[in-house]
Formats: sequence, structure tokens, C-alpha cells
Amino acid sequence: MACSGDAPIEPTVYDVPKAVEKYVQSFVEEGQKRGVTIKLENLIIEFRSTGAGSGDECGSCTRAVNNGQRKITLVESSLCWGSSIEQNREALVFHELGHCLLGRDHRDDLLSGGAPVSIMNSRAVGFYEACAYPIGNEDECDKRYRRAYYLDELFNAKTPAPDWGK
Ligand SMILES: [Zn+2]
Repeated sequence: MACSGDAPIEPTVYDVPKAVEKYVQSFVEEGQKRGVTIKLENLIIEFRSTGAGSGDECGSCTRAVNNGQRKITLVESSLCWGSSIEQNREALVFHELGHCLLGRDHRDDLLSGGAPVSIMNSRAVGFYEACAYPIGNEDECDKRYRRAYYLDELFNAKTPAPDWGK
């Protein structure tokens, strides 16, 4: 039987919502700073309204069997994308891009101080968040200083543990 009559394979596309695009651009820039070049092609990101929880329940990355189209689905609920904390939105997108564009799997081990080693952790949230409700304890709850380490680790899993992790 001839194969010439088979349905053509659909070409892959890049289609990312405006609200997410800045995080994708930031991901590319942060990779570039660390010597990792990422081509923005073959990526669909879309929102889904149902589903709630933390960590990995907030998103997923799939690849189509026929044409390899990558697709990230983000959950819109207040526990996921709907959280107003900017850093957590970014970390959620970066986690999924870690799966989809860097081929990373989950990494659930912890630093000796108890913080996750990686934003590829499947359960944790708030890796490098600012204080949601700063009431005079801003120094203790502001974790934004941790972002640089988590991005180093995302693009290079051999990054040594940071001083703050002890
Ligand atoms: Zn995941």
C-alpha cells in the first residue's frame, strides 16, 4: 500500500497568550545569560479553568505523538495562575518550560535547610516569592534573593547548593 495518500503532518506552531509571553521571553533571556540558547518555536500555551492544588497540579507539558507539538496547559484557579504573586506565576511557567523546552524531569530533593533544591520540584510552591502580606516581617518572608540560584539550577542541574540553603 502506498503511503503517498496519508494525511499531511500538521506543522508545529508557536502560540502563547499575551499574559504569559513576558515570562517566556524572560526564560529565554535567563537561559542566554547562562549559555543556553532556546528557540521559540513549537510551543502552545493555554489556560484551563478547572483543576486546583499546588505544585505540579497547576500545569502540564505534553508533546503530540504525530508532529511533536509541545503544549503547556496552565490552571487558572486562584491557587495556581490566579495567585497575584508575580514570582509564583513566573516559577510556574519556568517549571513547565523546564519540562517542555529543557527536557527536565521532576527533582524533589531538598537543600539541607529544607528548601527545595529545584523549581522542578513537583510539590512545592513559592520558591522565591515576595511577601504576600508584609507586616513588619518582610526580611524573613521575602525570598526573592533565592531566584538567581533557582534559575542557575534550572539551566544547569549541577549548580552547587547556595549558602542560604544550609
Ligand atoms: Zn512538573
